[in-house]
Amino acid sequence: MTATAVQNKLAILGGEPGVTGDHSELFRWPIVTKEHEDAVLEVLRAGRMSGWDVTQKFEAEFAEYIGTDYALGSPNGTAALIEAMFGCKVGRGDEIIAPSMTFWSTALPAFNLGATPIFADIEPDSLCIDPKDIEHRITERTKAIIPVHYCGHPADMDPIMEIARRHGIKVIEDVSHAHGGLYKGRKVGTFGDVAAMSMMSGKSFAIGEAGMLCTNDQEIYERALSFGHYEQTSGKLTLPDLKPWAGLPVGAYKNRLNQLCSAMGRVQLKHYPGKIQEIQDALNYFWDELEGLPGIRAHRPAKDSGSSMAGWYAATGLYLPEELGGLPLSKFTGAMRAEGVSCSRGCNNPLHLHYVLNEADIYGDGKPTRLAFANRDVRQPAGSLPVTEALPERCFSIPWFKHDRRDEIDLYVAAFRKVLEQADQLL
Ligand SMILES: *Cc1c(COP(=O)(O)O)cnc(C)c1O
Repeated sequence: MTATAVQNKLAILGGEPGVTGDHSELFRWPIVTKEHEDAVLEVLRAGRMSGWDVTQKFEAEFAEYIGTDYALGSPNGTAALIEAMFGCKVGRGDEIIAPSMTFWSTALPAFNLGATPIFADIEPDSLCIDPKDIEHRITERTKAIIPVHYCGHPADMDPIMEIARRHGIKVIEDVSHAHGGLYKGRKVGTFGDVAAMSMMSGKSFAIGEAGMLCTNDQEIYERALSFGHYEQTSGKLTLPDLKPWAGLPVGAYKNRLNQLCSAMGRVQLKHYPGKIQEIQDALNYFWDELEGLPGIRAHRPAKDSGSSMAGWYAATGLYLPEELGGLPLSKFTGAMRAEGVSCSRGCNNPLHLHYVLNEADIYGDGKPTRLAFANRDVRQPAGSLPVTEALPERCFSIPWFKHDRRDEIDLYVAAFRKVLEQADQLL
C-alpha cells in the first residue's frame, strides 16, 4: 500500500487515526483567567459570599446584555425555571407545554407546583419544539409554553408567540443552551414573557453554579422574587397583592446566588460576546468544510436568517443513516472515536418515556404524580412523539471548538470526511 492508502484506511479497520496529538486546549471549558481568579478572590477575602451586592451588579449588567428590564440571579437554572413558572402563575392542576427532548429542569419543576407537563414534538432540523404540534395540546388548563433553544439553535419564536398570544397563555424561554443567541436578529430570551437559564460550568455562559431569570414583566419579576427570596424582598415587592409577602419566600425555596459565582459572572460577561463570536466562526467553518457529504447535516439556522447558534452549547450534528446504507449511528460514532475524535450519541433521553413521568407516585397521592391534579390521563406512551423518539439514533456530538484555530479544526474535518467517504466499509 502507498503512504496515502495507509493514511486513508479507517482506523477502526486497522489504519492510522486521523487526529493525533494533544488538542485539549481547543476544548477546555470554562476558560478561567487571572481576571476571574482575582474577582472571585476579592469576594472570598471580603467574606461576602452570602451577600447580594455583587449579585445585584451582575443582574443589572446581565439584564442590559440580554435586553430586559429585570434580571434575577439564583443558585441554578432549575431554580430560575421554577421561579419563572410561579411567576406565570402555574399552579395546581395547570398544564405547561414543553418539549420532551430536553434536560429535565425544563418541565419537571411543574410537579412542585401541582402542575403537569404536556409534551410536544420537535422539528427534525432545529431540534426545538415544533410550533405545529403545540396548538392542539392547549386546554383551558394550559398556563405556559416552554420552548428550549436546543443545543444553541433558536426555537421558532414567531409562530410560538402568535399561538400563545391568541390563547392568552404565557411563554417561558429556556435559554440554558443559548445565552446571547439570536433569532431573526434579536436576542433569544426577549421574545417570551420571561426567560430562565442555567449558568453551570458546562454551559456556554459558565460561572460555576448559577441561574438567571430575565423579564420585562414587573408582576412576573416580583412573583419570581417572592418565591425564593426573603431578605431583599421588602424594597422590591411593590404590587399591592405581593407586598404583604415580603420577608418570607413563599415557595419555601432559598434561591440566593453565591456571590463567588456572581463575581465570576461579571468577568465572563465582559468577554462573552467576543468568545461566542469566535466559537461561531470556528463551528461555521467546520460545517462549511463538511457541506455536501452524505449522512450528516449541520445543526444551525440558515445563513441569511439573522439567527445564530449562541455559544453552540453541546454542539450536535444531524445523522441521516438512510444516506449511508442504513449504517447504525453507533457504528459511525465508533469509527469516529477510532480516528481520535470524541463522538457519541448527542441528545437527551426523551422525558415522556421515563418512569417518573408515567408511574411514580412521588407525593403519595395514590396515583402517579403526573396525574395528581389532572382532569384526564395526560400521559404520553411510546410512539406518541415520533420525531423526539427517533432523535437518539439521528444525532451525534461534534467537537465543541472553543477557539477558531483552522489548522487544528482541519484535522477534525479530514477525519469526518475520511469516515463518511468510506462508510460503506463499515456496513
Ligand atoms: C442545564 C439545563 C437546565 C438546568 O440548569 P441547572 O443550572 O443545571 O439547574 C435547564 N434547562 C436546560 C435545557 C438545561 O440544559
